Amino acid sequence: MESSHERSGWSERAAQALAAAGYRRGGARSAIVELLGEQSCALSAAEIEHELRGRSRKVSRASVYRVIEELEGAGLLARVEVGQGSVRFEPALEGPGHHHHLVCERCGRLQPFSDEGLERAIRRLSERMPARISEHEIVLRGACEACAPR
Ligand SMILES: [Zn+2]
Ligand SMILES: [Zn+2]
Repeated sequence: MESSHERSGWSERAAQALAAAGYRRGGARSAIVELLGEQSCALSAAEIEHELRGRSRKVSRASVYRVIEELEGAGLLARVEVGQGSVRFEPALEGPGHHHHLVCERCGRLQPFSDEGLERAIRRLSERMPARISEHEIVLRGACEACAPR
């Protein structure tokens, strides 16, 4: 659905944007940017912390939140609300690699999907809106196949 190339491009772009904003390279910041760039979808702060620990990169939850805030502030991260106050984050991508989400309300599983017809419909709709639309995020909620087999 999306090439890892797009995402690795994101990691580089993110590292440069943070450096340009005066943030130091290296340490927790680089580890988090690298990790997020490799994902095919969104991760929670706890998952980011857990993944990094699995790679022997111990980064505190506070540092994870701090870097997420920096990336969000720079417009590089998209926030996905998965319900029950739970939030996940993924690289903000427009164009190729851009996708939307299906959230299971029972187990919280997040599945990415993309649809050209949907994108075209949103573009047409955006043209009629009394605002310049720069982003959109679609979340479909329901029960996943594991929770409610058809
Ligand atoms: Zn996603
Ligand atoms: Zn489920």
